[in-house]
Amino acid sequence: MPATDKKVIIFGAGMHGQQTLKMLGYEKVAYFLDNNAAKYGTFCNGKEIVGFDKIEANKDKYHFVIVSQYISSMKQDLAAHGISDFEVFRNYLFSYYETPELVFNPIVLIDITNACTERCSNCTRFCGNHKKPFFMDFETFKRAVDSMEGFPGLVALIGGEPTLHPEFERFMEYLQTRYPRQDRQKR
Ligand code: SF4
Repeated sequence: MPATDKKVIIFGAGMHGQQTLKMLGYEKVAYFLDNNAAKYGTFCNGKEIVGFDKIEANKDKYHFVIVSQYISSMKQDLAAHGISDFEVFRNYLFSYYETPELVFNPIVLIDITNACTERCSNCTRFCGNHKKPFFMDFETFKRAVDSMEGFPGLVALIGGEPTLHPEFERFMEYLQTRYPRQDRQKR
């Protein structure tokens, strides 16, 4: 999360901007800033989309987060408006939010097996081709889940094909005890 007390303006109201709103929390975000004038005055997930004109007078009150692949030109836009308090939300394979203090990865994947029903030629882990597939034991799984206590991002199970794990049902039951439905829906 940004190490600032200021409210955040997310520069870029696309899919990743909306993802960033979820990560930062509704209260932390003031507006979406966008270069597309057609969007001004409209709302995205309850936050108004504005242009530079709207924030010009109060721009120093905000911390800006660039969320777009057009990072260079957006940096130039901010500089042209005298804004230097910003950082960049990078989105490669899995999004992460970078701050001077930490790299926050919003998704943690618990890999419970490399067994798979398929044998895709492009599988990076040769799943489905192992003579003896790996199945995570329950205690290791429990430790992994417990270590996520208080983690604000997304926790997911992957494989291979996770449902091939002989204890998949038990794993899911344990996950449900740690993440009640109401908490899951916030993620
Ligand atoms: S894990 Fe995915 S990519 Fe790999 S073999 Fe199974 S289906 Fe294919």
